[in-house]
Amino acid sequence: MSQSIPWKVSLHGGHSGDFCDHATGSLREILSAAVQAGYSTFGVSEHAPRIEERFLYDNERALGWDVEKLKSDFERYTQTLPALQAEFSDRIEVLFGFEAEVIPSQTYPILMLAHRQNHPFDYMLGSVHYVREISMDGSLHSYEQAIETCGGLENLAIEYYETVADMAQALKPEVVGHLDVIRKNAAPYGSVETPAIQRAAERALEAIRACGAILDLNLAGIRKGLGTPYPAPWLLIKAHAMGVPFCFGDDSHSPSEVGDLLEEGRAYLLQHGITTITALTKRGGALEKRVIGL
Ligand SMILES: [Zn+2]
Ligand SMILES: [Zn+2]
Repeated sequence: MSQSIPWKVSLHGGHSGDFCDHATGSLREILSAAVQAGYSTFGVSEHAPRIEERFLYDNERALGWDVEKLKSDFERYTQTLPALQAEFSDRIEVLFGFEAEVIPSQTYPILMLAHRQNHPFDYMLGSVHYVREISMDGSLHSYEQAIETCGGLENLAIEYYETVADMAQALKPEVVGHLDVIRKNAAPYGSVETPAIQRAAERALEAIRACGAILDLNLAGIRKGLGTPYPAPWLLIKAHAMGVPFCFGDDSHSPSEVGDLLEEGRAYLLQHGITTITALTKRGGALEKRVIGL
């Protein structure tokens, strides 16, 4: 049996082909991979269902999926995860989470908080994948549409961080996902680090600090070829200076991505003078934060 390592904690990932169109492998295979990777705590944060047809991904449409399918997959997830959590408990602490969406923009807080009320989730991961209900985390085509709708890249990025701040206030999630995912598709269009954008990002950080959330040091940033995890160094440094803590997120969507790039993430934190992570754990009974040295 592989040894679990205290700092190996991920609070974002574990998406599986059982419940997600763009993930592969079963949830059981994902959890076995997490044990193999030496995780001490592994949070599974399956995507919340999108409840209107207009938000379906092209891939989901091609598969013939509809809103009812997404809802029933999520319900199945909420049944499956707690059973596996118990089954794996002698090898690894599995936390039961979900990744919230900010769509539809007027009603998402009610919807996401209802998920929490209806199921025994350990935590919520608050992520922003949409600005003005347009996906900026998906195709370049829809990113361009978002730029056009907002009146330019700078405005899009500012609105993105405003959406993050609103989400943090409305949902008070335990963890905030991939804080600067706005940069994933930005390169062909310009900079998302202008002074006005940085001010908006700082306001988002203030909202995150106010709700006590942990920031996701998200390794998909490296996987997407951005050179660093999310968030980028300037944002990492700012968050750290403001006292906002970090925890890893491998953002795994397949067994091979589980635990991948964790060492790089650890080196990135240490390189910027961040020597601890703040994990979530239920080892003491109730969910609590625990500071762990790197
Ligand atoms: Zn996903
Ligand atoms: Zn996400």
